[in-house]
Amino acid sequence: MPVASPAAPPAPDPAAVEAAARILARARSILFVTGAGISADSGLPTYRGVGGLYEADATEEGLPIEVLLSGETLARRPEWTWKYLGAIERACRGARPNAAHEAIAALEARIPRVVVLTQNVDGLHRAAGSSHVIEIHGDVHDLLCTRCAWEERVADYADLPIPPACPRCGALVRPGVVLFGEMLPRPAVARLEEELLRGFDAVFSIGTTSVFPYVAAPVLMARSWAAGAVEVNPGTTEVSSAVDVRVRCGAAAAMAAVLAALPDRAFR
Ligand SMILES: [Zn+2]
Repeated sequence: MPVASPAAPPAPDPAAVEAAARILARARSILFVTGAGISADSGLPTYRGVGGLYEADATEEGLPIEVLLSGETLARRPEWTWKYLGAIERACRGARPNAAHEAIAALEARIPRVVVLTQNVDGLHRAAGSSHVIEIHGDVHDLLCTRCAWEERVADYADLPIPPACPRCGALVRPGVVLFGEMLPRPAVARLEEELLRGFDAVFSIGTTSVFPYVAAPVLMARSWAAGAVEVNPGTTEVSSAVDVRVRCGAAAAMAAVLAALPDRAFR
């Protein structure tokens, strides 16, 4: 008889999975709010913000990672910021969407309005095929010039001189991600506000501790829309007490189980 590895993630609670599936089956519109936890099952480290790859306070430069990965440092010492941006991109390199990303993308065939609000900069929701993704912290694969309108989407940074210069005007190139101390991208915020104004039938918070107000707010708004709110997270978070259902396990196992538990009528 096989013995479960101690490292194996706990299986989701069947009652919680059933309850989450009932909410999903009723929904004609759904918002998925995702964070680093959803990409952990793709082998990515769970980091906070852009820079939390580094839990240690000290860096080689002797500065906190929040300072090195700030807009201010990018302007003054781009080689420092780019060194750590490169580390983030390397962590994403070769990562593939997992069952949770795929489940969300597949639901577009069954639910008329599926929107993803993600804090992740790894691009895995788009890679999985989700078509309405609000990347509130940007995507590390989008490069843009700090001076002119040049921009390009790259698969990785393997061939990139660090720090890279704009091929058109020679100015510094940066990724389209939100660095510490920077504002959220205005188009993403506008899209989010528009979607929240319309409201949703269901909100799923997956793999995020919801420390940012703009991430917690949609989950807290679920009640005002009379929407079902589900949290998928092994731990307790800022929004745990506000949801109807908690599926306390990893994202891939949870979403695969919830999809499998959908009654047949949800597929028609
Ligand atoms: Zn340029």
